[in-house]
Amino acid sequence: MRPYRGRFAPTPSGPLHFGSLIAALASFLDARHAAGHWGLRIEDVDPPRCPSGAVDTILRQLEAFGLQWDGPVVWQSKHHDAYAAALARLEIQGLAYPCSCSRKQWRAHPVYPGWCRDGVCEPHKPAAWRLRSDLGLRPVRWEDRLFGPQAFDPAELGDVVLQRKDGLWAYQLAVVVDDADQGINEVVRGADLLDNTPWQRQLQHALALPEPRYLHLPLILGDDGQKLSKQNLAPALPDTETEARALLHRALALLDQAPPAELAMAPVAEQLAWAIAHWDPGRLRADPERRLTHDTVD
Ligand code: GLU
Repeated sequence: MRPYRGRFAPTPSGPLHFGSLIAALASFLDARHAAGHWGLRIEDVDPPRCPSGAVDTILRQLEAFGLQWDGPVVWQSKHHDAYAAALARLEIQGLAYPCSCSRKQWRAHPVYPGWCRDGVCEPHKPAAWRLRSDLGLRPVRWEDRLFGPQAFDPAELGDVVLQRKDGLWAYQLAVVVDDADQGINEVVRGADLLDNTPWQRQLQHALALPEPRYLHLPLILGDDGQKLSKQNLAPALPDTETEARALLHRALALLDQAPPAELAMAPVAEQLAWAIAHWDPGRLRADPERRLTHDTVD
């Protein structure tokens, strides 16, 4: 069997919240249960969105929850050359093209209609780079470990941006290049990224990169029914071990692992030892969403 290599890949746009804890914890437990490698990659490709100090906070929060990563922290901001090389390969294959269109111009369409595919519409304007989703791997199929067989036609999702007009790299390209570079063969992350996977599979195929297995996790909604996110100011996770204990227990319960009640206030190391030994993703119910109630999280 291939050695397990997983990762947690937060965007440091703010502190981690309970939704991020679910992704961090499940990917950690899946890796540790398989005696595998669990890396930490900081997805800082968009510096204007990443306040200074956010990474330090994230590292302290992970440590408070006992989620110790293996090896050095990987930074996307140091990988420009690798992303540029991947984009050049796609361009040579005719799978990436420059695009001068603004969202305002195509706002009447559900997805970008591909106007610049055969030549950039306004050559003197700054251009983004997009993926030709109508060429290459179509449809995209894979077996999600929780949600089962998936099939998407990337062309219906549109030609995703690979590099923005301001030169910043887009998540889709960076994640594919880095997962391959780090030898990641197991991706465990939130279901909000399920419909990003088709572009990522297309990119892996075009760049002849291996295909990881995917486990997408139910999305955590606040009691207002909104996705927990930094944008809607989901409360930040604590960064002390004593405060982390109760939340860790709740996260294990939310992942359907049925942690024993007597572990509720136990040190995180004790809870994690139990959770690693008993981790069973087969217990996860495949609800696309989970709503937090006040007794699930304070
Ligand atoms: N950086 C992404 C996020 O914070 C996650 C990327 C991934 O796990 O593929 O939402």
